[in-house]
Amino acid sequence: MSEERVIGIDLGTTNSCVATVEGGMPKVIANRGSYKTTPSIVAIAESGRRLVGHIAKRQAITNAQNTVYAAKRLIGRKYAHPVVQQARQVYPYKIVEGPTGDARIELRDKVYSVPELSAMVLGEMKKVAEEYFGTPVEKAVVTIPAYFNDGQRQATKDAGKIAGLDVIRIINEPTAAALAYGYKKNVKKRVAVFDLGGGTFDISVLDIQDGVFEVLATAGDTYLGGEDFDQRIVEWLVFGFAKEHKVDLRQDVMALQRLRDAAEKAKMELSVTASTEINLPFIMSTGKSDALHLQRTLTREKLEEMCGDLVERCVEICDRMLKEAKIRKDELQDVILVGGMTRMPKVQESVRSYFGMEPSKNVHPDEVVALGAAVQASALTKTGTGQPDLLLLDVTPHNLGIMIAGGYFNTLIPANSTVPTSASHVFTTTRDDQIAVKIVVLQGDSEIASANELLGEFLLTGLPRAPRGSVEIDVNFDISPDGIVAVSARDRATGAEQSIQVTATNKLTEEEMQNIIKDNEAFAVAEKTQEAFAEQRTNAERAVREIERLMPVVRDVIGSSDFGDDALKKAHQVVERAKRAIAMQDADALKSGREQLERTVVMFKGVASKVGKS
Ligand code: AMP
Repeated sequence: MSEERVIGIDLGTTNSCVATVEGGMPKVIANRGSYKTTPSIVAIAESGRRLVGHIAKRQAITNAQNTVYAAKRLIGRKYAHPVVQQARQVYPYKIVEGPTGDARIELRDKVYSVPELSAMVLGEMKKVAEEYFGTPVEKAVVTIPAYFNDGQRQATKDAGKIAGLDVIRIINEPTAAALAYGYKKNVKKRVAVFDLGGGTFDISVLDIQDGVFEVLATAGDTYLGGEDFDQRIVEWLVFGFAKEHKVDLRQDVMALQRLRDAAEKAKMELSVTASTEINLPFIMSTGKSDALHLQRTLTREKLEEMCGDLVERCVEICDRMLKEAKIRKDELQDVILVGGMTRMPKVQESVRSYFGMEPSKNVHPDEVVALGAAVQASALTKTGTGQPDLLLLDVTPHNLGIMIAGGYFNTLIPANSTVPTSASHVFTTTRDDQIAVKIVVLQGDSEIASANELLGEFLLTGLPRAPRGSVEIDVNFDISPDGIVAVSARDRATGAEQSIQVTATNKLTEEEMQNIIKDNEAFAVAEKTQEAFAEQRTNAERAVREIERLMPVVRDVIGSSDFGDDALKKAHQVVERAKRAIAMQDADALKSGREQLERTVVMFKGVASKVGKS
C-alpha cells in the first residue's frame, strides 16, 4: 500500500522545518536552496510582493519595518498582554490592536492578523514538501510549544487552515521530539525533554514504553527563548555605544536590525569560541562628515553573566514541574536537548548540573521536532495496517476552570490531565425568570480569576422562565487531543442542547477567516499574473533586442526589393507594438504580439545566417 503524502511541520519562532515519513522512517525535506530549515520570516516588499523565508531574511535590514520575525511570540495573544507591550518596544514592525482586542501587525498600510502571517510560513513549508513530492499535500501535523494555551493553539490551527492545510493534529514540541527519539528504537525509559528555542521554553517528562509515549507532566514559558538572549546583547551594545558617542542606536530601525543580526551571530559563535568581535562599520551617520562605527569584543563569560538569569529561569521551571508532578530526578534515565539554544554551553552545563547527568546527544536539536511531527502524521493517517505502531498520550499544560463568586477561579480540569478529557459542571439560575447565564472560562494557575488567561465568555441563552435555582444546565468542558477547549451545554430537565454565544474571545471569526482565504486566493492569482507578465516581457524584450541587432544586416541583404521593404516595415511595426505593450504593461497586447515577434526573429536570423552574420 502506498503511503499517503502527509507531513509534519515544526513552526518555530526563528526557523521552521518540514518532514515526512518514507519507507517507515522520518526524514527532513530540504527547501529549494538545500537548507533543512527555513527562517520563519515574512516581509512585504515595496512592490507589494510577499516574501517568505531566506529571501525575506536577506532584505530584513533594508526593509525592517515591513519584515516580521518571531510572530510566534504574538500568536493568539491579546494586544493588552504585557508580553505584547514588551514586544512593541523591541520589534521594528508595528504591532496594533485588532477588532477583537488581539495583537495584529501593520505592514505597508495593511493590518494582518498573526495567524495570517504564520500561514505564509506554513504555506512556504507546504510548498517545500509539494516541490519534493511533485504532488499537492494537504494533511499535516503542526507542532506548538507545550505550554501554549487554548488561544495560541486555536490561532495556530487557524494559520494552518488559512495556508490550505488540513491540520490533522496539533502536537506539543517536546512530545514530538520524544516521538522521534524513541520511534522504532525499542526504548523503555522515563525521559525529560528540555526544549529551548528561539522564543519559548518547554520541559516535559515522558514514559516511553513499547511505542507508547505517555507525557507525565509539562511546564514552560511561552516568552523565554533565544530572542531574549539576543536582546540582552543588543542592549549591551546600545548602552555601550550611547556612553561612548551619546547617540541612541534604537532610534534607527536599520541600525537596530543590524545590531540584532550581529547579536545573534555573536551568541552562536560564543557556543564554540571564548570570545568574538562584533564589527558594524557605518552603523550610524552623524549628519556631519564622518560616520560612526561599532566595534566591540564580547566574551563567553560576559554573555553568560548577561543571560545568567534567563538560564536560571529555565532551571527553576524544571524544578517546579518535577516537584509538582512528584517526579524525582533520579527516576529519569535521559535528558533530551531540543531547540537551537541548547547548543549554548551554559545551557548544557546547567542542565547537566541540575539533572545530574550528561544530556543525550542522539537527536538533532533543529530537526527532531519536525521528524516527530511526521511520525505522528504518518501514524494518524495509516489505515488498514493493523496495530498502530505508536500511541501518544499527552497532557493539558494549564488548569482549566471558570470564574466563581468573588472573582475566584474554580479549576475543573487540572493541569497535566491526559487529553482528550472532559469535565462537567451544573449551572443554575440565581434570579427568578433568569433567561441567560454567563460562564467565564479561563486557563491558568492563579486562584484569582482575573490573573488567568480568559478563553471566552459563554452566554447560555433562551433558558425557560422559572423560579431561581430550578433551572439546571449541565455544561461540558472538553479538551481535544490538540489541547483545544470546547464548551457545550444541555438543559438537565429536557436534555435539550443549550445554545451558547461566545464573546470576549480574540479568535478569528469564521467569516474573517474565509475573507482572508479569499483575499489570499485573489492575491495568488494576481501574483501569478504578474509573474507571467514579467516572463512575457523578458521574452519580448529579448526578441526586440535581437530584431534591432539584425535589422541593419537584413536591410543590407533584402532591403532594396519590394518584398524586403515590406518585410522591414512590418518588422518595425511589430517592434513598436511590442515596445508600446511593454511600456503600457498591457499583457493582452504583449500576448497577441508574441507570435509575430518570434516569427520576425526567425526570419531575420534566417536571412542573416545566409550571409554568415547571424
Ligand atoms: P529553534 O527555535 O529551535 O530553531 O532555535 C533557534 C534559536 O536557537 C535562535 O535563538 C538561535 O539564535 C539559537 N541558536 C541556534 N544555534 C545556536 C548556537 N550554536 N548557539 C547558541 N544559540 C543558537
